[in-house]
Amino acid sequence: MNLEGKTAIVTGSSRGIGRAIALALGKAGASVVVNYSGNQAAAEEVKNEIEKNGGSAITVKADVTDYSQCELLVQSAIDHFKRIDILINNAGITRDNLLARMKEKEWQEVIDTNLTGVYNCCRAVYKPLLKQKSGGRIVNIASVAGIHGNAGQANYAAAKGGVISFTRTLAKELGSRNITVNAVAPGFIDTEMTGELSDQVKDQVLSRIAMGRLGKPEDVAEVVLFLAGSAHYVTGQVIAVDGNLSM
Ligand code: NAP
Repeated sequence: MNLEGKTAIVTGSSRGIGRAIALALGKAGASVVVNYSGNQAAAEEVKNEIEKNGGSAITVKADVTDYSQCELLVQSAIDHFKRIDILINNAGITRDNLLARMKEKEWQEVIDTNLTGVYNCCRAVYKPLLKQKSGGRIVNIASVAGIHGNAGQANYAAAKGGVISFTRTLAKELGSRNITVNAVAPGFIDTEMTGELSDQVKDQVLSRIAMGRLGKPEDVAEVVLFLAGSAHYVTGQVIAVDGNLSM
């Protein structure tokens, strides 16, 4: 797949799944905006890795919970690379707790980052995309928890379920402009987000995965690359990347 001449923003691409997506898009020839919220050193490392592979990248600090920062993120892409074609809404957090113990702060932080953050970035990018009149691709990173629910993750599952409905709606609104909007729903992927879980929990999850292994960030990145590149007539879809955990 050749994404040369295209510019992609990947939110939360300093680490984990976002990092793998940024590297994959960079390898395919896209100019990449590596977004992060606090971890500048990690974001710079991703930029350097993209450049080492012959690609172009910049790092931009922006908190997706703040609309004005999302506007600046999109503007940085346009200022630096002259255009924007692809938005990958990947930034996300967890604040797990059973509902009985879940504090309002834990609920709100997850909704603000995982759901409102997607709305903020889509809202910031859609006008420049329409102005360019050359279509575009939006891929939202949801979760199988947003499809099936998950005990201890009412905040996270609600946000990711919202992302899925938002994706389907935006696909309907933007389809006639040749802008596709899809979601990828990872299962259990080995990143810092899941790294804090106990071995007992990991073993329990593993026993439910038909493929017998946890997912890697690259497993998610290759599906995102397909949706951001070659999938010309696919929109409003949710693709689970979970080794059959969700069945
Ligand atoms: P991770 O390793 O914890 O990385 C999270 C990334 O999001 C980091 O780059 C972080 O930036 C960034 N971020 C957090 N809050 C942000 C904010 N307010 N504004 C901008 N960036 C922010 O997470 P991951 O496991 O790769 O997860 C990536 C996405 O996949 C998330 O949406 C997550 O919900 C989803 N997902 C993950 C799994 C899994 O098993 N890992 C499963 C299903 C879905 P800093 O480095 O600057 O902090």
